[in-house]
Amino acid sequence: LEITGIFAALPKTAGMDIFTEIGPLKAFLRQSKENKQSIGFVPTMGALHAGHLSLVEQSNAENQITVVSIYVNPTQFNNPTDLLKYPRPEEKDVAMLKETGCDVLFQPGDKEMYSGPSLIHFDFDHLDKILEGKSRPGHFSGVALVISKFFNIVQPDIAYFGQKDFQQFKIISKLVDELKFNIRLRGMPIRREPDGLAMSSRNQRLSSAERKKAGILFQSLSWAKEKLEAGEVWNKINSGVKNMWDKQSGIALDYFVMADRENLMPLESVKSGYPCVLLIAGQVGEIRLIDNLFVW
Ligand code: AMP
Repeated sequence: LEITGIFAALPKTAGMDIFTEIGPLKAFLRQSKENKQSIGFVPTMGALHAGHLSLVEQSNAENQITVVSIYVNPTQFNNPTDLLKYPRPEEKDVAMLKETGCDVLFQPGDKEMYSGPSLIHFDFDHLDKILEGKSRPGHFSGVALVISKFFNIVQPDIAYFGQKDFQQFKIISKLVDELKFNIRLRGMPIRREPDGLAMSSRNQRLSSAERKKAGILFQSLSWAKEKLEAGEVWNKINSGVKNMWDKQSGIALDYFVMADRENLMPLESVKSGYPCVLLIAGQVGEIRLIDNLFVW
């Protein structure tokens, strides 16, 4: 992608600036905005991998300033162990971001992001009650809250998200639409390991035996997609996938759903060519993993 228009006039800044406080970050970005530099923003929770870096690369290609945030947001964790054990390889993350050409890293602490217990809760009607929302009550409220904070602080031109968290992307799209954030959203394709496993910071916590078993998420999705596109009925596909999971020890299927790609409403049958998405979540040992795949 080429940078075009008024934003193309200025060269990118060299090196990476790191901010831990909102004030200095805003002052820096104010200057960039006065210079008509476009700002791309990639929010992350760190423990970076090639999936995150693909978002940074896309932002680099479309903006003069790329801001990445690393913040493990406590309000989106409903499992305290998951929060405690979330990997935080800070030095490695910084090195990877520098190498990828990130301009600004924002790495706030909890006190900077939350002045006290938060009283604000979001409700997205059915969108935050199904799928991930059912298994993780309050999760999307925490996501919407922290993303709203970041959008207000950074005020980017474009924000980049992975399709891996497809329900999250739908919720953030709704957030931007309803609250009139003047921000364009980009949903980027899922980066995968050679066996198809979607890259995830949580994969690091899998033992080597679990890592092998984790391949079943993508196997289930791609097998089901193939069957659907060949005209098989959903009930049969669904029970086929359930059997696949039942046969293996140490893993548990949380949900496997075919849904409308626009509104995520679950579907029991589809006409050939109807844009739908298969979504899966499962427990591999202690680790909960998610994935999804478009059909047609
Ligand atoms: P996280 O650090 O898990 O909050 O993810 C930060 C961003 O990276 C989110 O927009 C994710 O959807 C995106 N992301 C995570 N894993 C992948 C992947 N395998 N491919 C593409 N994007 C990803």
